[in-house]
Amino acid sequence: MTLPSHAGIVVIGGGIIGCSTAYHLARDHKADVVLLEQGKLTSGSTWHAAGLVGQLRSSASITRVLKYSVELYKGLEAETGLATGWKMTGCLRLATNADRWTEFKRLATTAKSFGMDMQLLSPAEVKRMWPLMDTSDLVGASWLPTDGQASPSDITQSLAKGARMHGAKLLEDVRVTGFEMKDGRIVAVKTDKGDIACEKVVNCAGQWARQVGAMAGINVPLQPVKHQYIITEKIEGLANDAPTIRDPDRRTYFKEEVGGLVMGGYEPNPQPWTTGDVPNDWEFRLFDDDYDHFEQHMAQAIERVPALANAGVKQMINGPESFTPDGNFILGVAPECANMFVGAGFNAFGIASGGGAGWVLAQWVVDGEAPLDLWVVDIRRFSGLHRDRDWVCDRTLEAYGKHYTIGFPHEEYLSGRPRIVSPLYERLKTHRAVFGSKLGWERPNWFAPGSVEPEDIYSMGRQNWFGPVGDEHRHVREKVGIFDQSSFAKYEMTGADALKALDFICANDINKPVGRLTYTQLLNTRGGIEADLTVSRLGEDRFYVVTGTGFRTHDLSWIGDHIGQGLDATLKDVTEDFGTLSLMGPCARDVLSAVTDADVSNAAFPFGHAREIEIAGHTVRALRVTYVGELGWELHVPIAATGEIFDSLMAAGKQHDIRPVGYRALESLRLEKGYRAWGSDITPNDTPQEAGLGWAVKLRKNTDFVGRRALETAAGKPLTKRFAGFTVDGPEIVLVGRETILRNGEPVGYLTSGGYGYTLEKNIGYGYVRNTDGVADHFLASGEYELVVAMKRTPAKIQLEPMYDPAGEKIKA
Ligand SMILES: Cc1cc2nc3c(=O)[nH]c(=O)nc-3n(C[C@H](O)[C@H](O)[C@H](O)COP(=O)(O)OP(=O)(O)OC[C@H]3O[C@@H](n4cnc5c(N)ncnc54)[C@H](O)[C@@H]3O)c2cc1C
Repeated sequence: MTLPSHAGIVVIGGGIIGCSTAYHLARDHKADVVLLEQGKLTSGSTWHAAGLVGQLRSSASITRVLKYSVELYKGLEAETGLATGWKMTGCLRLATNADRWTEFKRLATTAKSFGMDMQLLSPAEVKRMWPLMDTSDLVGASWLPTDGQASPSDITQSLAKGARMHGAKLLEDVRVTGFEMKDGRIVAVKTDKGDIACEKVVNCAGQWARQVGAMAGINVPLQPVKHQYIITEKIEGLANDAPTIRDPDRRTYFKEEVGGLVMGGYEPNPQPWTTGDVPNDWEFRLFDDDYDHFEQHMAQAIERVPALANAGVKQMINGPESFTPDGNFILGVAPECANMFVGAGFNAFGIASGGGAGWVLAQWVVDGEAPLDLWVVDIRRFSGLHRDRDWVCDRTLEAYGKHYTIGFPHEEYLSGRPRIVSPLYERLKTHRAVFGSKLGWERPNWFAPGSVEPEDIYSMGRQNWFGPVGDEHRHVREKVGIFDQSSFAKYEMTGADALKALDFICANDINKPVGRLTYTQLLNTRGGIEADLTVSRLGEDRFYVVTGTGFRTHDLSWIGDHIGQGLDATLKDVTEDFGTLSLMGPCARDVLSAVTDADVSNAAFPFGHAREIEIAGHTVRALRVTYVGELGWELHVPIAATGEIFDSLMAAGKQHDIRPVGYRALESLRLEKGYRAWGSDITPNDTPQEAGLGWAVKLRKNTDFVGRRALETAAGKPLTKRFAGFTVDGPEIVLVGRETILRNGEPVGYLTSGGYGYTLEKNIGYGYVRNTDGVADHFLASGEYELVVAMKRTPAKIQLEPMYDPAGEKIKA
């Protein structure tokens, strides 16, 4: 087939992800799509995958994506005539200790919350299902009957055929060599066979996605790692419908294949491949067998399945696969270039994800907007830090090594730290800060009293910081605390049309006098919440935008992409220009007034205002706002003066017993006050009305804004889901999120956040209660509620008002 001179959409890469994306673009959107593959279809990582297909992830949306894959693989043969090898064998996950068992109980609860029937089995039940297994060390196993296995190459060929049937052109032996760019957008794809002009590009180049992205200045932070498994000869007594097994305590997995076993694992000492470019001529290639490295898996696997000791090894597969620094794949529109989309970095679950990832990516390409909450895989979760290949490699290897370790709540990564520190880092260390890391920034999670070692000790129950964080929490409620929030992402929007641009982007009314601060959501066209931030008007044509640390790239590119054509509005990231000190608590005003001549009385400086004030000879942007429900200010200070200003606040606050406070106390404080967290409580799947944030939307004003039409359409209909709080008694109960909400014994939703409120002395959870006939107040208030926590039902009380400070006085005037 000759190369077309033009295509609406060019997909690069003929692995499972590229073929699935092309299939969905052609089938669902009738798009004019051309797929280019440098070798033959499947010849990258896809052909040598083991083919296990699991579905459950900790994100509801990603689980939905994986469930879609299974539905697609089941039915694809009927459409294309090509089989996918799909077998619904079910999957057993084995637990050999109490912590793992607790993890599985939470996992099974999550599964039920997401509508999947995961069961917990006894060792005897496992033995009956898999007689060749030694179950003597098992506590039990989880069982997901709808998981299975498939043939990676067959699925991909079937998707490719389906794509062609729907009109896509798939071309082999065409290598993409570069892009022609104009005004930051791709206008043509260059190949070794000629150029193709196009409107959009989808980079599905597997482990080459990084270098293909780099040709257009786009960062795709993945790291190829060697991943091995063996295929054995036939094993007597192994059923051909034997469930797949994941044995995380032994770091191994198993799958039946033509009467033998496929067995591989995730070792703690993974072997990265190159941090440079991946060679182009890697078609259908593998690394040499490495039995020395694989021996650790072999020894563990034989203990689990003793018959393996006598089974001949037919073949070893040692292939490259792309892994990422957080174990999630990379999807969506590149922040550096609005018409390149990426689907790569599949962390050895690309076969399981392929069908669903192609489905949502195709929709994203066509709409320019993710069709559901895909934040955990969104390419905009990365930042400039992720351009550092060595850092990405170290963190990725740590994530790979943790693939099968027990996932303790609140666990932090250790590699590549400290990377970015605030000017207070050394000072906070002397206060015995225990740091966590967020987007590379070291941030104090809590402060260890003299009697406690300053380090996290993880467990499935209450962890060692539980008591000290309670002290920090109460200190903010009763006196005053200071939070180092310098990692906040900060932008300035300036220009004659800055107001017009932001007014269209923000759901709340930011057209207020100079000196006012507005809390607002940014909505997508479905009315879903894409961002949650504050906008302060510093001048007629000057706005200061502050958002969460992790959302830096995402929110910047969302705002940038939605500035109306031709407007005079410039957006600048000023994160590193300002340190942020949040001074919070009933004594905050006493402390602030001692270090500034500015009038900080409530009359002169009310809630929701922003002023420039002088502290220690420096001009400070003081924002009267709070995330903890107490009187307080966010002080945005020139970065170089952060230490000096911190010292003067600490000195002035001495008589009020001021102390630094960490992020874990912040979380507990905000849970009590009912402030929503973006990414968990509020996401692109939720509208402000559903989230109880309708008060922050300017529907009554006659101005257009992104999402308005969708909210207006929904306005006449009853809400079918609503955000609500829950309290649970019992100090031994630990809420971690995703616990099922039962109303009158029936599941109606699950927790999006869970934690502990030290003032209330109760566990606190939030989540959406769903009902197709509506969720009016009387419906919510009339039910009897329970939460399912680690598979156990426990009574809960619904709370429709903030649990702390329900009167909502103007934040402790
Ligand atoms: C040993 C092993 C076992 C695995 N087991 C499983 C499993 O059990 N379950 C599971 O879900 N996943 C598994 N995986 C992971 C799975 O194989 C991958 O996640 C998946 O194949 C990735 O597909 P892809 O389309 O992103 O990449 P690829 O299949 O690598 O496709 C990318 C394609 O892009 C092409 N390309 C690159 N650059 C260019 C260019 N410049 N121009 C044109 N074309 C280009 C390449 O030639 C390649 O064909 C395993 C992986 C390995 C290594």
